[in-house]
Amino acid sequence: MTDNHQQPILEVKDLKKHYPIIKGFNRKLVGYTKAVDGVSFAVPTAHTLGLVGESGCGKSTTGHCIMRGIEPTAGQVIFHDRERGPIDVAQADPNMLRHVRLNMQMVFQDPSSSMNPRMTVFDIVSEPLTVNNVARGKDLQDRVAELLRVVGLLPEHMHRFPHAFSGGQRQRIAVARSLALRPQFIIADEPVSALDVSIQAQTLNLLQDLQEQFDLSYLFISHDLSVVEHVSDVVAVMYVGKLAEMAETEELYHNPKHPYTEALLSSVPNPDPGVVKNRIVLAGEVPSPRKPPTGCYFHPRCNYAVSDCAENAPPLREISPGHTVACHLADKLTLRGVTAVRI
Ligand code: SF4
Repeated sequence: MTDNHQQPILEVKDLKKHYPIIKGFNRKLVGYTKAVDGVSFAVPTAHTLGLVGESGCGKSTTGHCIMRGIEPTAGQVIFHDRERGPIDVAQADPNMLRHVRLNMQMVFQDPSSSMNPRMTVFDIVSEPLTVNNVARGKDLQDRVAELLRVVGLLPEHMHRFPHAFSGGQRQRIAVARSLALRPQFIIADEPVSALDVSIQAQTLNLLQDLQEQFDLSYLFISHDLSVVEHVSDVVAVMYVGKLAEMAETEELYHNPKHPYTEALLSSVPNPDPGVVKNRIVLAGEVPSPRKPPTGCYFHPRCNYAVSDCAENAPPLREISPGHTVACHLADKLTLRGVTAVRI
């Protein structure tokens, strides 16, 4: 990445989302579900940070807290707005939040669920422009047509309804809508998980083309490490509400330092049939954030755990420039990345 690209557009600092656990007739507070528990990262401008982890690890909650769709319990979300400079989204008043949301948009996993089936494509894509009084009449028509062209759809189809389109085309409509207000930053939450593999590639290529064209920055949330590798410049791995490891993509995929990352990478399919994959099967289930294990949350499933791991939580620390890990043994372990052994 160049220097300019290392300037973050978004800085998330010690973000937390804790849900109170209330029990009994007296509605007594008995604890917290720590869905997101002290997550920090920075998204470089005009680049992509991939946020990966298994289902329920808190990655989508992190995305919604950044947008304030869910109110964070604590922490800062500093958005570097092109007009107003740094804004703490977590503390923004309704006016400022409205401004921020013009510049930050979200794309979801299932485009159908975020579209009203009774609205035409024109209605769907033009809605952000009309709600924010950005365009009307002929100007509005032209802008919708242009947005559809940008995402590879035919403008003459703007008066059709979403059900007339394939899953991949519906995701393109969702992307066109998210671009309507010319945002700086997009949170894409599992944007291709509901699509066929061939359509996934087209959608990922579209997102990358748009990034180059409009200098967009992405937070790309996914459980799929192959997809994340394809689109991300930096990757952060989450486990039970915390960051386990973060590094530039090539470094993380070839030189992982956390045993959880190693296990996730061992399940990435390799298209070369001559490559032997030794998949690491983790014992047990992902712990619940309602009652996580003591010490390192990963210790009950970790093949390298030592006695200290069950007692003391490892802090997230930088072990080489730009590579942070939360593991007591990060300096000592030699872990396997995506390079597999050939027959
Ligand atoms: Fe495994 Fe211990 Fe490292 Fe946790 S701190 S990942 S249990 S070796």
